[in-house]
Amino acid sequence: MTTRKYKELVEQRIRQTLAQWSEQPAVEEKEIYRFLHNLKGTAGTVGLQEVGELAERLLNRFADDSRSPWPESEWGRHLYPLLEQFSESASSGTAVLKEGKRPPGARPQFEVLIIEDDVELVAFLRESLEKDNYYVSIALSAERGLKLFYENKPDMLLLDIMLPDKSGIDVLRQIVEKAKKERIPILIFSGEHSRELQLYAYSLGVMDYIRKPVDIELLLALIRNRFVLKQEWQEAVVIDELSGAFNRKYFNQTLKQLFSDYKRTEREFTLALFDLDHFKRVNDTYGHLVGDEVLQRFAEVVKKSIRLEDTFCRYGGEEFALFMPHTGAAASLQVIERIRRRFAEVSFSAKNESFKVTFSCGLAAVNESLPHADKLIEEADQALYASKHGGRNRITVYNRMLPGAKGAQPLNIIVVDDDAFIREVLTGGFAGWHPSGGEVASVRSFPDGTRFLEADWYTPGEKYIILLDGIMPELDGLDVLAKLRAGYKGAEILVIMLTGRQDQRDIIHALQLGADDYVIKPFGVQELLARIERLVSRILY
Ligand code: GH3
Ligand code: MG
Ligand code: MG
Ligand code: MG
Repeated sequence: MTTRKYKELVEQRIRQTLAQWSEQPAVEEKEIYRFLHNLKGTAGTVGLQEVGELAERLLNRFADDSRSPWPESEWGRHLYPLLEQFSESASSGTAVLKEGKRPPGARPQFEVLIIEDDVELVAFLRESLEKDNYYVSIALSAERGLKLFYENKPDMLLLDIMLPDKSGIDVLRQIVEKAKKERIPILIFSGEHSRELQLYAYSLGVMDYIRKPVDIELLLALIRNRFVLKQEWQEAVVIDELSGAFNRKYFNQTLKQLFSDYKRTEREFTLALFDLDHFKRVNDTYGHLVGDEVLQRFAEVVKKSIRLEDTFCRYGGEEFALFMPHTGAAASLQVIERIRRRFAEVSFSAKNESFKVTFSCGLAAVNESLPHADKLIEEADQALYASKHGGRNRITVYNRMLPGAKGAQPLNIIVVDDDAFIREVLTGGFAGWHPSGGEVASVRSFPDGTRFLEADWYTPGEKYIILLDGIMPELDGLDVLAKLRAGYKGAEILVIMLTGRQDQRDIIHALQLGADDYVIKPFGVQELLARIERLVSRILY
C-alpha cells in the first residue's frame, strides 16, 4: 500500500472514533489518552507530521490512568481540531464544495449574536468564531438585532456602538436588563472609546468593552473565558430570573427525582406543559418588553394558584411546566382550569389599547407503562400539541387515543443558482436529509431568478427554504430577494444567500433586504445543512 492509502486509513480511524464517541454520553480519560498516544506514533510515520505533532501536544492534557468521564463538549474542543488538519490539505484542490469541514457530531455549542453594521468585520468575526465552533447569528441593524436577541436566545452578545438605525447604547438600554436576567454576557466593541462612554456602558452592566481594531486572538480567548464563566453560573443557578420560576435545569432534576420516587413508592404525580398562544404576535404588535411583562404576569398567576409542593418551571422562552406531586389527572386539571380562568381576567395595556393573552396546556400523569421519564414529557407535549391543534386556549389530558405524535412538518427546499454543479450537489445533499421536527417535502432547483419567480412554486401555508445565488446572469440574487420579501409578506420563507468571497458587499445588501443567513462559497454541504437545521428550528413548532 502507498503512504497515501495509509493516510486515508488514519483519517478514517480518527473520524470513526470521534463519531462513535460523540454518540456516547462521555468517554473515559484514559481511553482518550490511549487514542492520542497511538495516533502520535502512527500519524508521523505515515507522513502526517502535523497530525502527529498535534496529537502529541494534546496528549499532555489527558492522564493515562484517569477514569474521569469527558463529555463531548469537553473532549470535542481538544480533538476536533485533529480533523481540520485533513480538510485543509483536501481543500487546496479546486473543488467548489469543501466537504466535511465540520464533522456532523461536532455541533456548535454556543450561539453568539453579533450586532454590527460593518460587513467585513462581521464576516471576519463570524469566520473566526465558527472556527472555534460557535454558532454565529448576525444582525446589521439594531432593530434586527433586538428581534434575534429575543428569538434566538443567544449565549453571548457582541454589540457595536455605531449602528445605522439606532445607537448601540439605545440597544443596550433596551436589552441590558433582559440580558442580565437571562444571563447573557454583553461585550461591546467600538471605535469610540471615550472614558465617559466606557464608564457609562459598564454602569449599565456591560461585561467587556473592546476597542477596535479588534485583536482576534485576544477576543477569542476572552470569549472562551466568558463561556466558562457562563457555564459555571448556569450550573449554580436554579431560578429563572425573568419569571421567578425554576429553570430548565431544575425541571430536569425534579422530573428525575419524582420519577424515581414513583418507581420506588408508586407515588403519583402529573406534568403540565404550557405554551402561550400567538405570542409572536404579542411581541410583534406591542414589542418585546410588553411580551416580557406578559410572561411575568403569567408566572405570577400560576405561582398564586399552586401549592407549596408543586414545582413551577420555565421550560423555554414562553413555555412553562408544572409538576404536581401526589396528584392525579382529574385534580390537576382543576388546578390548571383555575389558572386559565384567572389568567383570562388579566388584561394588558400597551399602545393605548388593551389585550388579553391565552395559553394552551398539555397534561400527562405518570403511569407504569412509561419506560423512562422523558416519555412523560413526550406525552405532555403531545397533549399540548392537541390543544394547539384543537384551536388553542384549552387544556388536553394525554391519552393514547390522541391524534398521533406531532407529525414532521413539510419543508420545501428551492435552490436558485446558475451553476449546474451546485444545483446538483445541493439537491443531492438534501435528498437524504432529515431535519429534526421536519421532513423534506420537495426539492426543486432553478438556473436563474426569472424562471424561479415565474414558476408556480408557492403554496400558501407551506414552509420554504430558498438558497439563492448572489450573482446570476438574468436577474441577480438580490433582486430576487427584494421581490420575494415584497411579494410574500408574512410567509414562512427562509432565504440563505450563497455568495462569493469577493462579493462581501452583497452580504450587507442581502441581510438588509431580509436574507436570514448567508454562506460563502466554497462551502461544505454538511456545514450548510447544520446552519439550515439551526435556522429551520425557528419556523417549525
Ligand atoms: P403558538 O400559539 O403556536 O404557540 O404561536 P406562538 O406565536 O406563541 O409561537 P411560538 O410558541 O413558536 O412562539 C414563541 C415566541 O416566543 C418566539 C419568541 O419571539 C418569543 N419569546 C421567546 N422567549 C421570549 C422572551 O423571553 N421574551 C419575549 N418577549 N418573547 C419571547
Ligand atoms: Mg412556543
Ligand atoms: Mg406559543
Ligand atoms: Mg453565480
